[in-house]
Amino acid sequence: MSTLAITGGRVLLPDLRVVEADVLVDADAGEVLDVDESREVAGDDDLDASGGLVMPGLVNAHTHVAMTLLRGYADDKPLDAWLQEDIWPAEAEFGPRDVRAGADLGILEMVKTGTTAFADMYFHVPEVVDAVRESGVRARVGHGAVTVGKDDEGARADVEESLDVAREFQGAADGRVSTALMPHSLTTVDEALLREAVETAREEGIPVHFHANETLDEVDPIVSERDERPLAYADDVGMLGETDFCAHGVHVDDAEIELLAERDTAVVHCPASNMKLASGMAPVQAMLDAGVTVALGTDGAASNNDLDAFDELRDAAMLGKLAADDASAVPAEAAVRMATEGGADALGIPAGRVEAGALADLVVVDFDEPHLTPAHDPVSHLAYAVTGSDVRHTVCDGRVLMRDRQVLTMDESKVLARARDRARAVADRAGGE
Ligand SMILES: [Zn+2]
Repeated sequence: MSTLAITGGRVLLPDLRVVEADVLVDADAGEVLDVDESREVAGDDDLDASGGLVMPGLVNAHTHVAMTLLRGYADDKPLDAWLQEDIWPAEAEFGPRDVRAGADLGILEMVKTGTTAFADMYFHVPEVVDAVRESGVRARVGHGAVTVGKDDEGARADVEESLDVAREFQGAADGRVSTALMPHSLTTVDEALLREAVETAREEGIPVHFHANETLDEVDPIVSERDERPLAYADDVGMLGETDFCAHGVHVDDAEIELLAERDTAVVHCPASNMKLASGMAPVQAMLDAGVTVALGTDGAASNNDLDAFDELRDAAMLGKLAADDASAVPAEAAVRMATEGGADALGIPAGRVEAGALADLVVVDFDEPHLTPAHDPVSHLAYAVTGSDVRHTVCDGRVLMRDRQVLTMDESKVLARARDRARAVADRAGGE
């Protein structure tokens, strides 16, 4: 067994107390062995955490990672117009190599800003899997199935692909990749195909991830056509299992919140995307009060416009107060829990907590900075003052991915150069039509 010792710093414990301690990791098994307050650990390798805080790696529980190529491509429009006029025409130009370049770029950004696991809904999923494999991060991936605008054959093929991808890549990259069936949303997938695919997923133990209740434009048609709320429909289809998770949950009523809590289905709150697209304010405190598992996601970089999960943490704490009209809503502790254990629980991975037996997905945040001084309460800083650039080391599955702000598993300049080239070519092709 080879071990990694993270020494000299303070550690954020699962109960959110912060103690002076060292952390010992089994680098082969990718697990935390010990959190030692006596500071007597020694490892085969050592990471210096002095002046820093060892905490769980953040979980970005909903993104479309290759959309980094469209960062800043189109802004300042509502969701429908933005998708139809700008994003979908550009994405239609994406080939496998574009998705790979965008995935590498997004993963590089996440590793540098302290995210160790993410959930990704996109297409050309094998490219995303390869990017995850080579970079060393962890992900739950899936093919986002859309049937609107397709003929019967094309619609069925897209849903089948989502199932096939989920089967093929489960457990890839030494177990760091898991999968889900990912119907894009309740309004973009044909009901009969959706019911059939979800039934198959249930039989095969495949989780389901989808966009839900993001905008009123998405909720109102379901209510008027079906005379039921979207999540009642999702429940009837069988998409609200305890391994399932949905993104957004902005426009949910009390009965839907109750349903999510009863079914133990996690919601991924995406505050920056919801603000930028003026989608609305998710009732996060009400969901937390009801016992819903809430995670955080950046959504795609085109509606954020970065993948820094620390930004999301701050946005969640801020927007949660505005939504509840209550400054005590979504306190720092709740926001930190959403970004760590909430995300890990949504993705179904034993991470998000620094404790013996948990996955060794850890980051060290440098507190020796002007904007983090003084540190009356480190947890407050994590919610309100830390940014991704304060991350000094990133560890995933017991392996050091970034040491002293140097990413070890990716060639940063090559990733940036390739992403620039690919993004420019996509924009040229999309604009040339
Ligand atoms: Zn999304």
